[in-house]
Amino acid sequence: MSELTVIVPCKNEEEAIPLFYDELIRNTAFLEKRNVALKVLFIDDGSTDGTVSVVRSLNEKDPRVHLISFSRNFGKEAAMYAGLKAADSDYAVIMDADLQDPPSLLEEMFGYLDEGYDSVATRRVTRKGEPPIRSFFARRFYRLMKKLSDAQIMDGARDYRLMTRQFIDAVLAMTEYNRFTKGIFGWVGYKTKWIDFENVDRAAGKTKWSFWGLVVYSLEGITAFSTKPLVLSSLIGVIMCFVAFVMILFIIVRWLLFGDPVDGWPSLMTVIVFIGGLQFFCTGILGQYIAKAYLEVKKRPLYLRDEKNCF
Ligand code: UDP
Ligand code: MG
Repeated sequence: MSELTVIVPCKNEEEAIPLFYDELIRNTAFLEKRNVALKVLFIDDGSTDGTVSVVRSLNEKDPRVHLISFSRNFGKEAAMYAGLKAADSDYAVIMDADLQDPPSLLEEMFGYLDEGYDSVATRRVTRKGEPPIRSFFARRFYRLMKKLSDAQIMDGARDYRLMTRQFIDAVLAMTEYNRFTKGIFGWVGYKTKWIDFENVDRAAGKTKWSFWGLVVYSLEGITAFSTKPLVLSSLIGVIMCFVAFVMILFIIVRWLLFGDPVDGWPSLMTVIVFIGGLQFFCTGILGQYIAKAYLEVKKRPLYLRDEKNCF
């Protein structure tokens, strides 16, 4: 008999977890026919509400429910890694606790594993219910990412993905500190089937993402999976040198023709400020990568477990 681990990162999801559990159980009856055992692994990512006790009471009713609790909030990326690491099963699937990743797709997803796929991924094709400005920037981000990075990242891709053991091990082999799982999934390759679905609103609770949180996350994604911004900053440097060269020629010619009247202070200032700004911009890009490398070499753990709340 094989086993499926359902990994559910949770931060303050006490309202959503019972709804999620019921819906999951309703939609996993098909596993029995396939001779696959179910294990539900909640990851408590530093929740400050009753998440731990809600999962504990589920565990009392149903021993297939497990929990890994973190010592503080480490973020969803760390939670997903912890879940995959703890999964010793043949298959694993990552799902949000808020039912935005519909468990009703699971049966179809499993079907594709029979066809030889190593992972079955999902993407939402609509973003209804989401603030339009957020959708707009999300679209821009995916388009930019496609240009910048070698790792394939689908527009609207969710972290909701069913994986075989081979795929899980590949993801676990990437132990980087600055994790951008959407990129990692694409980077590891293997045969992946994409399933589309309509966006679903959160079942309960509130989203953990602020607009700025998403902006920072997208920059994370870019620096983690592309070094093209560094190329851009070198390119700007080269172009500026060329412009400066043309300006020098212009000044020499003008001096030869008209002498050297002392004026042009305002234009000089604008040029200095402009180039100063570009220098800061490019140093900033460089700084981003150095900061990432700095955190990477420290080899800090991705998360810390609070053992008394793990079962
Ligand atoms: N989450 C988490 N740690 C965090 C933030 C979120 O484990 O620091 C979980 C959250 O509980 C949920 C999933 O990640 O199960 C997705 O979060 P959310 O629904 O807030 O994101 P959205 O669907 O709005 O993108
Ligand atoms: Mg959500």
